[in-house]
Amino acid sequence: RIAYVNGMYVPHREAAVHVEDRGYQFADGVYEVCEVRGGRLIDERRHMERLLRSLSELRIDAPMPLSSLGVILRETVRRNRVRDGIVYLQVTRGVAPRDHAFPKKGTMPGVVVTARSIDATKGEKTANEGIAVITVPENRWPRVDIKSVSLLPNVLAKQAAREAGAKEAWYVDAGGKVTEGSSSNAWIVTKDGRVVTRKADSAILRGITRTVLLDVLRDHGLKLEERAFTVEEAQTAREAFVTSASQLVMPVVSINGRTVANGEPGMLSLALRRDFHRFAETN
Ligand code: PLP
Repeated sequence: RIAYVNGMYVPHREAAVHVEDRGYQFADGVYEVCEVRGGRLIDERRHMERLLRSLSELRIDAPMPLSSLGVILRETVRRNRVRDGIVYLQVTRGVAPRDHAFPKKGTMPGVVVTARSIDATKGEKTANEGIAVITVPENRWPRVDIKSVSLLPNVLAKQAAREAGAKEAWYVDAGGKVTEGSSSNAWIVTKDGRVVTRKADSAILRGITRTVLLDVLRDHGLKLEERAFTVEEAQTAREAFVTSASQLVMPVVSINGRTVANGEPGMLSLALRRDFHRFAETN
């Protein structure tokens, strides 16, 4: 395997950044995960736009023009011979003597790109079984709309899910409403067929998969409600699912040990999953 690190393609096992990279010391950086399908990037433009937004919210300089970043993403995918999988891009505020405040102007942002294959048939198998979800109290900072590499609460939530035999953890805010998953957006389908997901304000990450799915819903003539829902509402919903670039539309069949509907992946969830790539941009 090959990784891109600050201007060079290097063997993955030797890929390293400086000990004073601010991503390493302060989690002072942002990232994107893009799906690769048939060797091509899915929704690259939207991911790049979100990257620029994350960078600008944190006042990190863009490391290079987006077109150059695109070339590096593609080249990393090519060199790793990834057909189906993901490409990971991370940009940090760069290397500087450790000091919380920003380093001096002109410090080069740190750029790392990796790519790996994911067995597409495994994903389909998981989707046909559905996943279990647990809930955890929302304990993240109030700017989770920025895709920052500061993911410690997400790490702990995902680990809690794993230890509970579940695949994802949903955060629940102080008002008892679900915000999103530790690495996905959360959705339900009500008994009367309306699709519900939380409004994309600073309480959730505006998932690219979420954005594309809104187009799929429109095409299917489905009613959408962008609002928060409670755990109980989700447990008693007709269907539940999560979305992310790496899992696409993934049906949820249990929440905190309580079965959703008949415990089978929802028909609509699976239909949306099948239709997703018709609405995604392939580059
Ligand atoms: N919410 C969180 C916290 C995430 O980490 C992710 C993706 O990893 C998502 C939502 C889904 O975003 P996307 O569809 O862009 O992958």
